Amino acid sequence: MAKLRNGPEVFERVCSFCQKSGDMARRLISGPNNVFICDECIEVCRKILSEEEHELTSHFTGDIPTPREIKSYLDLFVIGQDNAKKALSVAVYNHYKRIANPPVESEEVEIEKSNVLLIGPTGTGKTLLAKILAKKLKVPFAIVDATTLTEAGYVGEDVENILLKLLQSAGGNISAAERGIVYIDEIDKIARKGENISITRDVSGEGVQQALLKIIEGTIASVPPQGGRKHPNQEMIRIDTTNILFICGGAFVGLDKLISRRVVQHPLGFGAETGGSEKSLKDLYDAMHPDDLIQFGMIPEFIGRLPITVGLEELKRDDLKRIITEPRNAIVRQYQASLSYDNVKLEFTEKAIDAIADKAIKQKTGARGLRAIVERLMTDIMFDIPSMDGNKQVIITQDTVEKSEPPQVVYLEEKQKSA
Ligand code: ADP
Repeated sequence: MAKLRNGPEVFERVCSFCQKSGDMARRLISGPNNVFICDECIEVCRKILSEEEHELTSHFTGDIPTPREIKSYLDLFVIGQDNAKKALSVAVYNHYKRIANPPVESEEVEIEKSNVLLIGPTGTGKTLLAKILAKKLKVPFAIVDATTLTEAGYVGEDVENILLKLLQSAGGNISAAERGIVYIDEIDKIARKGENISITRDVSGEGVQQALLKIIEGTIASVPPQGGRKHPNQEMIRIDTTNILFICGGAFVGLDKLISRRVVQHPLGFGAETGGSEKSLKDLYDAMHPDDLIQFGMIPEFIGRLPITVGLEELKRDDLKRIITEPRNAIVRQYQASLSYDNVKLEFTEKAIDAIADKAIKQKTGARGLRAIVERLMTDIMFDIPSMDGNKQVIITQDTVEKSEPPQVVYLEEKQKSA
């Protein structure tokens, strides 16, 4: 604030930012309530803004990661799911290209965005893929849950709130958010319910799909700045969704049966070769047709806006074993790092890893159950170890996993002394 000096007429005009007085600055521009800004501070502000803008645009005009680079990064964290990784890498690469090269002339060919639909059982890595992409990409990224959304006017969240999350991840920068990526989880939960239960309105199904459809295909959406429900006279943030890439994911429980039924009824091609015997989930997803998704309860226009559909495979025992130890942030590595601060070397025997994978398979929770199993194993150890002296090696064995026997503890100093 400018300092007012005694007397109503005499006051010193100083820059409210750097406190330079009026006669020291070349220019002093005044605002309301005796607020001033000098030419130098204006220049500093201008630089900050242009640097921010440059930082944002450089992600698009600079090195666009190639699909191969994106996939190699996903490989560090996500085991298997090659088809999904490839499809996502290409979609994201094209997304970068699109926003880096907007059509200049109206007649120029416009590359349409290719939104992606990931389909696969729970715990196979759909959300994980989205999260790792978020890490790799330098565009704003938001993960939202379709189950919280309902048609406007009903209890629940307005569809536009998903854009608010994106805006938050863009630090409030609207133009950055307009080039971001949104992952919508549990998209199958907004499938239309069966025809016969339409006496009550399907507020969380078809209506939400219709509302989402507009946002996904590209519109100027009005987003309430505080989230929640829109209400009249509220100031809205306008976000253009034309360049936002949408990745949707869901388990679509029962879709495999729909595909299988169709394939058996029309056994040409895919079904003919295998003679109608039990198909693996991968085979079924490979044979998937948009009609199957429509029959599941998705509206045709919605499916039409998600041109890339990828099925994720069920994780096999070997995949689960790899997930326990291999990814950069694998659960075993996390515990090893944590215990290393207590001078403990943590080891899992090969058989213990087998036993953990077998337990997860029995629970039918995919890789999701692995963390809980390992966490349960580690609770006692994490409790006891910090009170024990000396450098130790803790070995988790098959019996620790299967019979809840305590792990082997070896004192390394004694081992070294006796050696
Ligand atoms: P969903 O397919 O239900 O979205 P998630 O991606 O949330 O499954 O998976 C749950 C957890 O299981 C992840 O956080 C991760 O630790 C593990 N996980 C699942 N699939 C994989 C995979 N393919 N590779 C590595 N870890 C995985």
